[in-house]
Amino acid sequence: MRTLGLLGGMSWESTLSYYRYVNERVREKLGGLHSAKLVLYSVDFAEIERLQHIGDWVTAGRVLADAAQALERAGAGALVLCTNTMHCVLDTIEPAIGIPVVHIADATARRIRAAGLTKVGLLATRFTMEQDFFRGRLERNGLTVLVPDADERTGIHRIIYEELCLGVIRESSRETYRRFMANLVARGAEGLILGCTEIGLLVGAGDTAVPLFDTARIHAEDAVDWALAG
Ligand code: GLU
Repeated sequence: MRTLGLLGGMSWESTLSYYRYVNERVREKLGGLHSAKLVLYSVDFAEIERLQHIGDWVTAGRVLADAAQALERAGAGALVLCTNTMHCVLDTIEPAIGIPVVHIADATARRIRAAGLTKVGLLATRFTMEQDFFRGRLERNGLTVLVPDADERTGIHRIIYEELCLGVIRESSRETYRRFMANLVARGAEGLILGCTEIGLLVGAGDTAVPLFDTARIHAEDAVDWALAG
């Protein structure tokens, strides 16, 4: 088994999920007492969140590139960046390391295509819903991506940063997400991407009639498949 390098803390609420998902996948595949070989580097999310919201992606990229190098030095064989949003600075991280990156959008696209779907709705931070790094990658994989309207995007983003990343789960927010998800389905989405690694803490399969693609779980499982292929 190869060693995974988890770059987490964005937020730690979802890094906890990743730790569980990678170990569950290893147990599912190998059985018994087997568990994942991994190194975890967890950042202070307050620093990253400040850089995101002032738009200083250059510094954010450098901080994460340093962390990725530390994972490589610690023996990680591949980088697993445990957040959708920060895949936007992969162009800064990738040249700084000599190990491959398990890309969250590629893993998600493969899963959606395997399910036979082509048109999907995306719930995520505003950065992920509005920039090209995630959507564009899905579209180049042959998928059509629908995003909520501007007001809905603002509401989804606010709940992620002011509630989910702080471990706050509110029934009223679950209702809000259900409504926005139903709107995407009404516009033709055949499936919905939980394109932020905390959203799976709030909604699940029972909250919509269409298949859900939880990027945290899909990414973690794809990473384990890489580790076990070696
Ligand atoms: N974990 C979230 C994501 O998957 C949002 C937090 C962040 O900005 O990294 O995008």
